[in-house]
Amino acid sequence: MSETLNPFKMAQQQLSTAAELMNLDEDIHAVLREPMREFHVSIPVRMDDGTMKVFKGFRVQYNDARGPAKGGIRFHPGETVDTVRALSAWMTWKCAVVNIPLGGGKGGVICDPKEMTQSELERLSRGYIQAIGRYIGPEIDVPAPDVYTNPQIMAWMADEFAKIRGYYAPGVITGKPIAIGGSEGRGDATARGARYTIREAARHIGLDLNGATVAVQGFGNAGSNAARLMAEDGCKVVGISDIGGAFHDENGIDVAKAIEYVAENGTLAGFDTVSDCEELTPAEKVLELDVDILIPAALEGQITEKNVHNIKARMVAECANGPTTPAADKVLTEKGIFVIPDFLCNAGGVTVSYFEQVQGNMNFYWAAEEVDERLGHIMKKAFWSVVETAEKYNVNNRTGAYVVAVGRVAEAMKLRGWV
Ligand code: GLU
Repeated sequence: MSETLNPFKMAQQQLSTAAELMNLDEDIHAVLREPMREFHVSIPVRMDDGTMKVFKGFRVQYNDARGPAKGGIRFHPGETVDTVRALSAWMTWKCAVVNIPLGGGKGGVICDPKEMTQSELERLSRGYIQAIGRYIGPEIDVPAPDVYTNPQIMAWMADEFAKIRGYYAPGVITGKPIAIGGSEGRGDATARGARYTIREAARHIGLDLNGATVAVQGFGNAGSNAARLMAEDGCKVVGISDIGGAFHDENGIDVAKAIEYVAENGTLAGFDTVSDCEELTPAEKVLELDVDILIPAALEGQITEKNVHNIKARMVAECANGPTTPAADKVLTEKGIFVIPDFLCNAGGVTVSYFEQVQGNMNFYWAAEEVDERLGHIMKKAFWSVVETAEKYNVNNRTGAYVVAVGRVAEAMKLRGWV
């Protein structure tokens, strides 16, 4: 039977595997299988041509046993409530695996930001906060950027929340521009955190990063910064892709040039006309390149039972959330590929979001070096706790990460007397 690609089913399946292995209390498992709370909203937006469009949005608060719900907001045409549920579950495990005092949540709006003007996006962002404003807040649920949302959108949202509250409360949202209470280092924190885990993993499997080849799927915030940072570490980035296509150059892609190209043109489409790259079709071929390190940094459900057999990388560093389906995951394990699972690998973003909250609360802001040093400390510690747990239970790193994270959430639930 072909596996289901429903991301929430995927998340539940991953949880069940860990629950069985760690003998998780059945009542706790039952609670952890479902989100605690979710909001479905309609957002009317006046478009620039005078017509009104009603967008659908969601905010899911999956579990807040360890602290306020935390997680990004995605603007995506393919958004579904099940995707948001899955992402909110993964946020719960993400905050727990790096041991920051936050729960998990996620938001999403079904829209195509690439087809919208800045003023339409601003009205949509403000409309979303008007719709969910009473259910979020610094002590309740703290949103942040995710796919197709950015610091400017966070600024509009924080401002709209200020109108509702009557005062500016920077702690309601993270990933804000630095001028209004953002943190140094938040912009590329996801990729920076991933790099810390990749460095540790490379040491662990005896891979020299100097000259190691890398392919990156997705060239948004996580993917483009990951490509840049890996090139900085001496790696050769031979494949990149985004919605505009996939590009390959075995001599190494000029990552800075690709970043500039996307800033000017919106996507990578046509990048082969200004560089020595060849275009790969279909674009998913970027996942199958013969490289040392594969970095999926796009959407969920990309490495599946259909293409997993063609994956040649020695290491898969999951910068995206949920890029690998459970069936494909088994094959990666059988093939002996070292996987840094998503909610460990990409936890740098939320970790610096947490620093942003801490700095905002103190109203005292750290230098970029301090942020990065603290981030490195947390990421390395989390990496080794996952690897050691996986080795102890003789399971793959994903299940190891679940055992660490679910154990912490379960402990909080027990201590609070929830079960
Ligand atoms: N959207 C990011 C993630 O998936 C960051 C979330 C946050 O900072 O709250 O981890």
